[in-house]
Amino acid sequence: MTLLLSELDTETLAKTLASGRAIALVPIGSTEPHGPHLPLATDAILSVETCLRAARVLTDKGRTTLVAPTVPYGVTRYARDFRGAIGVSAATLTALLLDVGRALLDDGFSHVAFVNNHLEPEHAEAIDAAFQTLEAEHGPNAVSFPNQLTRRWARTLTDEFKRGDCHAGRYETSLVLATRADLVGDSALLPKLDISLAAALREGEVTFAGIGMTRAYTGAPAEGTAAEGESTYAKLVTMVVTEIAERASDDDDTAEHAGVRP
Ligand SMILES: [Zn+2]
Repeated sequence: MTLLLSELDTETLAKTLASGRAIALVPIGSTEPHGPHLPLATDAILSVETCLRAARVLTDKGRTTLVAPTVPYGVTRYARDFRGAIGVSAATLTALLLDVGRALLDDGFSHVAFVNNHLEPEHAEAIDAAFQTLEAEHGPNAVSFPNQLTRRWARTLTDEFKRGDCHAGRYETSLVLATRADLVGDSALLPKLDISLAAALREGEVTFAGIGMTRAYTGAPAEGTAAEGESTYAKLVTMVVTEIAERASDDDDTAEHAGVRP
């Protein structure tokens, strides 16, 4: 059966939700420039792939899991000097995620997880704001936001990611190569750039162009490989599955939140 919520009809979905224990994964991306070699939808591609892989693992563990439609727009201020940075405000993103999260829980899902791969801090904070409100409304078992920017998970990722020079570099190029290699342009001749977005951020508000990312990438895209992408997906899936397992417990509480007695 499909793992995509949008491919189901209403009656099949009603049957799927009857257990009162179904999980919805919401992939969140951005529409923004990722160097001269990766598509504008890079972050969304990464989130959908992470969700599909995590959904397979959770389904194998006996938890019905569906991947909700993708949220394709994010807060994309840093990239604003380049064509293709089509973003929304933090307030708009928070309001949208709140509405989508509430609708999924009202529909009968017992847990909603936000899965994101656009790492601009203001964007992540906007997701966190929606997460916090949903948690206050529906309880801790109902929602999660596994966030690779937190120390717990950042330390499990690659060296380039940890250095913070990871926009459209080796880290993201590897992930797209492992999923949609057909969309990856010629990265072999792109010189390595040691520009740390994370360090620039500590100085204040930045734009890609303003800190020398003149082609909207930093890091080492030429070093990207599908094998590294596979290894990073495994770590992202571990992050998602672990955080959901910690919150969406199998006990009676979860069923209670869904309004269903075991
Ligand atoms: Zn990205």
